[in-house]
Amino acid sequence: MSIKRSLLSAAIAGLFSFSANAADKVDLMITDAMVLTMNQDKTVYQNGTVVVDGNKIVAVGDDSLAQKYTARQVLDVDGDIVMPGLINTHTHVSMTVFRSLADDVPDRLHRYIFPLESKLVSRDMVRIGANLGNVEMVKGGVTTYADMYYFEDEVAKTVDKIGMRAILGETVIKFPVADAANADEGIKYALNFIEQYKDHPRITPAFAPHAPYTNTTETLQKIAKLSLEHDVPVMIHLAESHREEEKIAERADGMSPVQYMHSIGALNKNLVGAHMILVDDQDIQLVKESGMGVAHNMSANIKSAKGVSPALKMYDEGVRIGLGTDGPMSGNTLSTIDEFNQVAKVHKLVNKDRAAMPPLKVIDMATMGAAKALQMEDKIGSLEVGKLADIIVVDTKAPNMIPVYNPYSALVYSANSANVRHSIVDGKVLMKDRNMLTVDEAAIRQEALEFTDVVRKTVVESGEVVQ
Ligand SMILES: [Zn+2]
Repeated sequence: MSIKRSLLSAAIAGLFSFSANAADKVDLMITDAMVLTMNQDKTVYQNGTVVVDGNKIVAVGDDSLAQKYTARQVLDVDGDIVMPGLINTHTHVSMTVFRSLADDVPDRLHRYIFPLESKLVSRDMVRIGANLGNVEMVKGGVTTYADMYYFEDEVAKTVDKIGMRAILGETVIKFPVADAANADEGIKYALNFIEQYKDHPRITPAFAPHAPYTNTTETLQKIAKLSLEHDVPVMIHLAESHREEEKIAERADGMSPVQYMHSIGALNKNLVGAHMILVDDQDIQLVKESGMGVAHNMSANIKSAKGVSPALKMYDEGVRIGLGTDGPMSGNTLSTIDEFNQVAKVHKLVNKDRAAMPPLKVIDMATMGAAKALQMEDKIGSLEVGKLADIIVVDTKAPNMIPVYNPYSALVYSANSANVRHSIVDGKVLMKDRNMLTVDEAAIRQEALEFTDVVRKTVVESGEVVQ
């Protein structure tokens, strides 16, 4: 009798606690996680929980949090690293189909890439390349990327489908290209694209003037003005090469590319400058004061022997700076995780100081730093309540990851992109246990492989050697 009564009261209590907790029913919970929040205090929960409802993070904390919620989907990650999704601040995603062509050709951009693109860039090429690159990024833990290329409306369709987040910049350049006969047509194309995507929840349309020296002053000023009117980003290759430096010095009375952009009124918070290798202290000051973002593409810059950007100095001085891979003809991978190692080691070498670039700084540049560079730090870049649920899970049981005494060191010096287990964007799981859930990966790979026949034929016909 008393047992029955206590069972009854337990049942009633259960009923009440169920109704009291009804408000705490959520969509997704990640449990048993080593959570790197990347918040201001860089809080780490060794045995942590991340709670997601809809597309937002509603709670982050230790294991006790798991008792307070009932989730439709629970990912028990068994001690794996849970961290903010990586943000790739600079790429040309569609160029995956050209990857490994003519890697070490001198003056490659002008002698090889521009001619190749004039023959092969099309809506199909852009779509096929973007689909492949998107899969590579999601599988490598990149949840947001910033792109500069042609037919960006095609890239947008692929981003929409896979479920990633992206800033997509439509190229403006002074010579004829696949989707515009001149810079003015490029601006028109960009304006149409901006109109089409300005209200998309995950896609931010943008202008992408190729570089200062491949556009006129008038074009750069027009874009700066339009970007402020429409409140959209402007992405540009800036202070990247000596060729650019010479052309701009000729045009602007010996000014550096950064000084020149400042002098024409084009340096502002909407601008994201990729590379920024050839910058001095005065340039860094201008960059900092303008509030612009910087994309640091270490592997592309050292592969092309263009130099090492003073990115660490910019970071230490409070410039908005994040990591990027550059395009797959330059990098050659699109996964930021494969940059970590090089970013850490090269800055140490250049500064002749093994403590110069601690792993925590590298991870910060790939998450919050990158979010700041893209002016998105109030939405992404850390695991905090109210932020969008862009989250990745990194395997700590892979042979190359055992043991993890320091998660930042493990990520920077031991991890590779294949260690990413799950990728979540906007609260939705896009990859689970390395399986893509929103797109058909096999079909995407097949289509890309088929397109390489077209590339091979064109390259051979043009007399260029496939290396
Ligand atoms: Zn680039």
